[in-house]
Amino acid sequence: MQRLFRRAILGGIAGIAASLALLPALGHPVPVLLMGAVLGAGYAVLTGPTPEAYIDNMFTAGAYGVPLWAVISVIALPLFSGQMPEWSAEQMRSHFSVLVGWVLFGLTLGLFTQLLNEVAARVSGPEVEPVAENNSPKKRIVILGGGFAGMTAAECLERELQKDPSVVITLVSETNALLFTPMLAEVAGSSLEPSHISTPLRTTLHRTEFIRGRVTAVDMENKRVLLDASIGGAESCESVLSYDHLVFALGAVSNYLGLSNVQRLAFDFKSLIDAIRIRNHVIEMFERADRERDPEARKTLLTFVIAGGGFAGVELAGALNDFARGILADYPNIRREDVRVVLVHARDRILPELSESLGRYAQQRMEARGVEFRLSTRLADAREGVVVLSDDAIPAETLVWTAGTAPNPLTKTLPLEKDKRGALIVDKTLAVPSHAGVWALGDCAAVVDAKTGKHCPPTAQFALREAATLAKNIRATLEGRPARGFHFESLGALCVVGHQTACAELTIPFVRDKAMRFSGLLAWFMWRGIYLGKLPGLERKVRVLVDWTVELFFPKDIVQTIDLK
Ligand SMILES: Cc1cc2nc3c(=O)[nH]c(=O)nc-3n(C[C@H](O)[C@H](O)[C@H](O)COP(=O)(O)OP(=O)(O)OC[C@H]3O[C@@H](n4cnc5c(N)ncnc54)[C@H](O)[C@@H]3O)c2cc1C
Repeated sequence: MQRLFRRAILGGIAGIAASLALLPALGHPVPVLLMGAVLGAGYAVLTGPTPEAYIDNMFTAGAYGVPLWAVISVIALPLFSGQMPEWSAEQMRSHFSVLVGWVLFGLTLGLFTQLLNEVAARVSGPEVEPVAENNSPKKRIVILGGGFAGMTAAECLERELQKDPSVVITLVSETNALLFTPMLAEVAGSSLEPSHISTPLRTTLHRTEFIRGRVTAVDMENKRVLLDASIGGAESCESVLSYDHLVFALGAVSNYLGLSNVQRLAFDFKSLIDAIRIRNHVIEMFERADRERDPEARKTLLTFVIAGGGFAGVELAGALNDFARGILADYPNIRREDVRVVLVHARDRILPELSESLGRYAQQRMEARGVEFRLSTRLADAREGVVVLSDDAIPAETLVWTAGTAPNPLTKTLPLEKDKRGALIVDKTLAVPSHAGVWALGDCAAVVDAKTGKHCPPTAQFALREAATLAKNIRATLEGRPARGFHFESLGALCVVGHQTACAELTIPFVRDKAMRFSGLLAWFMWRGIYLGKLPGLERKVRVLVDWTVELFFPKDIVQTIDLK
């Protein structure tokens, strides 16, 4: 509590100082300074101090300036003065100077918060006392999976257990970086460099021991995890890891619903390598189509079918459509009408996670840019060069599957209770019932909200919050205190549907079942601001910002980076 109070005071002071940047745009000194104090205190409480992270703090807080501008200046202030918010092109131009003020506010807030934290640490010592050594035998917490759930669980455990040297935290993952999936479609669409959306686990985690390896089995009786640490190498290198607490955070895989030909011929869209393969394949299709003389064969090469109209499918269709149409100038023998991007979806509207009006808006905007929709249609089969639908067949050389996922198949091998999707059943505290010290979260777990009793969706937004609760609960268990139930209300959802267009539905705090809806350029700004703020690590943020800036001035890159054979 004392820690949070100290952060709030320092953040409040930083917020007051930073809000001077907003005065020229907003006027009204007293309310603006008060608002600065509240925002500064909130920012400092939520982020916490990291020694010498000046640039990181400035960029993170600077990125938050964009959504704050949208929510406060574009929406809340007009509403308070009795007007409806407007985002016509003319209005947006007048809002632009205020946006600059908000970004400056964020940058200054980040800088001042860092400065004040450094001064406070020198004057009254760091937030946390140095850890005292203790010779009792160490307990080992093993986390399986280095995605949103696993990495955040390790980060939160480091924070929770910083005073307890008797615990060793180990994280095992197949990849050595966290993949920031919300930006994966931008890699497939050649807007972002692949490595720029992956954050190295070793750099992010300080106390956690990291092992890159594949979990092959878990011996629950003897509390041991079996690993193959030879990924990519010729020789198998098996090892065993014992645990006191075990956390399953293995995520999900594509589920082809028994369509074996589709599984053989389609691209997955879950990992970084999937996105790289899709991008390279699209370029390959353009290269072949450019020298193809038969018009029908050319059209088949240039038809890209995406199965699934959820977030991943829609974002990918939007990005591929922009990419394919954006590189036409480099291929003189290909006409615009030869290119087809087709989205197949089993329901009668896309984006069922958003309200109907936003789903329809997304569809209209994408259709206007050339994307074709096959709604209320199922993917039935696939053959070389043909995608078979429930009511038709489309000649196409490219099929991407985003229409179904299932929990990681390793869960099937475990002697633990699962739901009908195969997700590990956990109680409200995220503990696996009747196996003390075993926990599960994220996409591989069936998590139920402790307050509402609703099933939590398999999204990064929930995985991050589950990780924070799980870390607190492991600590409580180690200290012999009761664990608490997991509760989180969704903050909303954002989806990019193509160049400079997005849809956003944000939950209004404390107002049940009501949401604010945004679309078009404003929602796209919000998407970029929010996700840039959430992308872990300053270096990655800067790299992504540079990619986005380069994209404004130069055509899409068509260099093939891997050999598809
Ligand atoms: C294209 C796309 C876009 C998305 N966009 C959004 C979005 O905008 N907002 C949102 O909230 N959610 C989004 N999601 C969903 C989000 O990515 C997942 O809900 C989230 O990643 C779940 O986190 P997790 O840690 O449970 O699983 P993951 O992040 O998938 O992590 C699983 C980890 O386990 C590792 N692993 C798997 N098997 C093994 C094994 N046998 N041995 C060792 N390690 C193993 C993997 O390498 C990985 O590191 C998106 C998903 C996709 C695919």
